[in-house]
Amino acid sequence: MITLEARAVDLIHGAVETYGDRFAIVTGFQLEGMVLVDIAARIGKAVRVLSLDTGRLPHETFTIAQLIKSRYGIEVEFIAPAVEEVDAMVERYGVDLFYSSVAHRMLCCQVRKVRPLEKRLQSLAAYAVGLRRGQTEARGDIGHMTEEPDGRLKLAPLADWTREMVVDYSVRHHVPQHPLYARGYASIGCGPCTRAVQPGEAERAGRWWWEDGAQKECGLHFSPDGRAERQVDVLLREILADVHA
Ligand code: SF4
Repeated sequence: MITLEARAVDLIHGAVETYGDRFAIVTGFQLEGMVLVDIAARIGKAVRVLSLDTGRLPHETFTIAQLIKSRYGIEVEFIAPAVEEVDAMVERYGVDLFYSSVAHRMLCCQVRKVRPLEKRLQSLAAYAVGLRRGQTEARGDIGHMTEEPDGRLKLAPLADWTREMVVDYSVRHHVPQHPLYARGYASIGCGPCTRAVQPGEAERAGRWWWEDGAQKECGLHFSPDGRAERQVDVLLREILADVHA
């Protein structure tokens, strides 16, 4: 029987062989994303690595991007949000709007993450992300391969890996780690929205830690649910109206 690791390797290899530079790994440099980069780099062919530069990243994130270059020879392609959309959002709601409500936080994630990534993905035939089912309840039924509405393939080669498997792979292959793991972080995002976790806390407890009961998701992989989605839509329409006024 094929192991979970062999299946992940097959998925990444198949995508690189089939799609070439129309395939990319999209990562925020969590342990999982770094495992994908390591697997892909072992193929010996050029592999693209994309990441979002939201404008609010901790400086340690650029350190790990440099480590990817020195270790694997891969120059990370950073994706920036539209300056006019960020300016309009900050003008209306302030630079730290995410602390005021879940909808404002999701608006910030839409402007700084979701919209720029969606735009860049349009040039790809397939991409891979480091999602695992065990990370949150919302991720409990993600598949290894999903066809998106416009035909692009989204791969989650580590979907059924445990965190222990990810750590084990990282140790065996000396995969570079984001420096903030050494300071108690278990999941890493933008600087103002991420903190270290205490022993026993959930893996993503340090993300948007001030929110009570909201999904620990930014909208990249899962849409906001129900009421939050409508609120975000309204806020986003206001921002876009400002941009086009
Ligand atoms: S994680 Fe925080 S700063 Fe980053 S895009 Fe989302 S709300 Fe904005």
